[in-house]
Amino acid sequence: MNPLTAALDIEASELLPKLESIYKDLHRNPELSMQEVRSADVTADYLQTQGFEVARRVGVTGVVGLLRNGEGPTVMLRADMDALPVVEATGLPYASSVRVRDEDGAEVGVSHVCGHDLHMTWLMGVARILSRHRDAWAGTVLAVFQPGEEVGLGAQSMIDDGMFERFPKPDVVLGQHVVVGEAGTVGYRSGVILSAGDSLKVKLFGRGAHGSQPQTAIDPVIMAAATAMRLQTIVSREIAPTDNAVLTIGSLHAGVRENIIPEDATLRLNIRTTDEGVRATMLAAVRRICCAECQASNAPREPEFTTISSFPVTRNDVESTERIALAFKAQFGERAYETEPAGASEDFSLFGRAWQVPYVFWFVGGTDAETYARAKAAGQLNTLPNNHSPKFAPVIHPTLGAGLQAMLTAASVWLCNPARARHGTLRPREET
Ligand code: ZN
Ligand code: ZN
Repeated sequence: MNPLTAALDIEASELLPKLESIYKDLHRNPELSMQEVRSADVTADYLQTQGFEVARRVGVTGVVGLLRNGEGPTVMLRADMDALPVVEATGLPYASSVRVRDEDGAEVGVSHVCGHDLHMTWLMGVARILSRHRDAWAGTVLAVFQPGEEVGLGAQSMIDDGMFERFPKPDVVLGQHVVVGEAGTVGYRSGVILSAGDSLKVKLFGRGAHGSQPQTAIDPVIMAAATAMRLQTIVSREIAPTDNAVLTIGSLHAGVRENIIPEDATLRLNIRTTDEGVRATMLAAVRRICCAECQASNAPREPEFTTISSFPVTRNDVESTERIALAFKAQFGERAYETEPAGASEDFSLFGRAWQVPYVFWFVGGTDAETYARAKAAGQLNTLPNNHSPKFAPVIHPTLGAGLQAMLTAASVWLCNPARARHGTLRPREET
């Protein structure tokens, strides 16, 4: 029996209703990336009541809670806090009705349609169990609530704010995400579990003129069109068919009137890859092609490249994942499964990368079991509202309990292993 999930079993009847109301409160009060002031206060206050040493405003709104419990490994547990600029359409009684102004002054809805409210609630519940049952484990726990995951800025902002100098280096970094999948199931994977995601803005410069006198212009519309077509040859002609790569130009803008040749054109593109080498090849090829097309058009200056966001590949440490997978199977039985890599991206891995320690990220299903089974039988899993959809709404039970179990189970691999605690090295956990 796992000592940490056994502790959860003892607490569950009292703890779950409390966490449910915390979850609904967070859900009703979502905040955009890098503005998670209230969420940070809720999580930091909670950690403090559980006896954690708490640091606030680490990297804008980040929260780090530290709980020392004798000799043993240090485990970092991470949750993200930000919501999205989406008008919620779940129809839930606790749906968000929050509206804010974005940078351009336009009114936008805000909602937790990526489930980060659940991630915060999970980590708070885990903190509570660890704090109340210190006899069940040994070591040090870092509970990290990070801002700005959706924009890829939060983890880096915490690192830049001296996180590594201020807190002990963990032996492992653990994180989890709610996804479409049968509620209560847990999906793990060794190696790549999430893609790298790179978004770029490319501005191409021409020379504006009257539409009737093309000889006096350098037409950025043609330049942009040729560039858009040629960029599609990167995946088809420069990347091996066995490698994963996607390049999408999601936005292309130039001009306002049919008889004015505009001054410039702007492309916004998104790249997804699962290998650092392929990623580097793609990024270099984008630059090369954009520059060459501009030269071909006799552009007056080089194109301007702006990084909109950049997420590295999330590559789970193989040995650590195998150990967690064994523990998941013991805890969840059939409900633990090996997942395919997802096309989405995360900045979670930055902590493990920068600290040069293993990291493991996994998925927890949040779709009502009956709804999921019906969609699966009808071959319509793709129609279920996914993360970022205005209708994304994980069912609270059993998703809430499953996320608590999953994180406690994974943490127990390090925190409840006396051999590892003594020697500080990885050892297979002995069955008791
Ligand atoms: Zn998201
Ligand atoms: Zn997310």
